[in-house]
Amino acid sequence: MLICKTPAEMHSACKNLRNANKTLGLVPTMGALHDGHLSLIAAARAECDVVVVSIFVNPTQFGPNEDYAAYPRTFAADCEKLESAGVHVVFAPLADEMVTPDTTTFVDTGELGSRLDGASRPIHFRGVATIVARLFNIVQPDRAYFGQKDAAQVAVLRRMVRDLNFPVQLTVCPIYREADGLAMSSRNRYLSPEERQRALILSKALAVAQSLAQQGESNAEALRSAILETFTTDPQLRLDYVAVVHPDTLLPLADTSHGALIAVAAWIGTTRLIDNLLLPA
Ligand code: AMP
Repeated sequence: MLICKTPAEMHSACKNLRNANKTLGLVPTMGALHDGHLSLIAAARAECDVVVVSIFVNPTQFGPNEDYAAYPRTFAADCEKLESAGVHVVFAPLADEMVTPDTTTFVDTGELGSRLDGASRPIHFRGVATIVARLFNIVQPDRAYFGQKDAAQVAVLRRMVRDLNFPVQLTVCPIYREADGLAMSSRNRYLSPEERQRALILSKALAVAQSLAQQGESNAEALRSAILETFTTDPQLRLDYVAVVHPDTLLPLADTSHGALIAVAAWIGTTRLIDNLLLPA
C-alpha cells in the first residue's frame, strides 16, 4: 500500500496509474475508520482497479466552536485497516498542504449548502465542497464513494459535480449501522456508555417514522411529529433538526408519496449526531 503525503506526490502516482489504464476509485474520509468507511471501500474495490483512500481532517469544514482539535486521529490503526481491506493508495496530506494559508478560492455551495446541517454549521459545506474539489483535481478519480449517512453532503456534492462538470461518477453507499441500529460514526467514540445507550433514540425515532410510512402515512408533518414525540422521551436530548425534505434540493416536502429524505440531527451530551432515512417513491 502506497502512502502519499503531498498533493504533488499523489497527483503523479495517480497519473501513472491512469496512464496504465487503471480505473481509479476515491473514498474521501477524515480517518478514525470504522466499518461504515470499510463498506465504501468494499464498493470501490468491486468496481475499480485501484482504490485510493484519503485521510484528511479538513479544518475548513469545522466551525470555530466545533471539534476540529478533538477529532479522533488514529492514523496507524487506520493504515492497518486499509491494508487489510486491500486499499492500494492512501493520501494523507498535512493540513497546510491541502489548505494553503493564502488560499482565496472556495466552492460556494449557495442556498443548498445552507440547508439541514448547513443551517447550524454555516461554513461546513463550503469547506467540504472545496476539499472534495481539490481531491478530485489531485486524484482525478473515475468514481468517488460517499455515504448516505451524510445525506446533505451527498446532495451538495452531487450538485457540485453537475454544476462544475467534474468527470466523476458518484456512488452513494447505504448507512452502515451497529447491531442495535446506531449509525456508525467516528464521533460515536466521544459517547460515554450511558450516552451510547441514549444515542439509539435517533435510529429508533426514524424507525417509528419508517413504520408509519410503510403503513401508508405520507403526510410529512405527521411523520415529523412522530419523530419529535419519540425525542420527548429523552428530556436531555438537544435537537438540531428533524426535516422531511426532497433528497436533492433539501427543501421541505408536505407529502412524501414521491419519495423523501427524513433527516435528524441532535446533540447527545456534547456530541452532535446525525441519521436519516430515505423513503422510496
Ligand atoms: P467521514 O470520515 O466521517 O468524513 O466519512 C467519510 C465517508 O464515509 C463519508 O462519505 C461518509 O458519509 C461515509 N460514512 C461515514 N459513516 C458511515 C456509515 N455509518 N455508513 C456509510 N457511510 C458512512
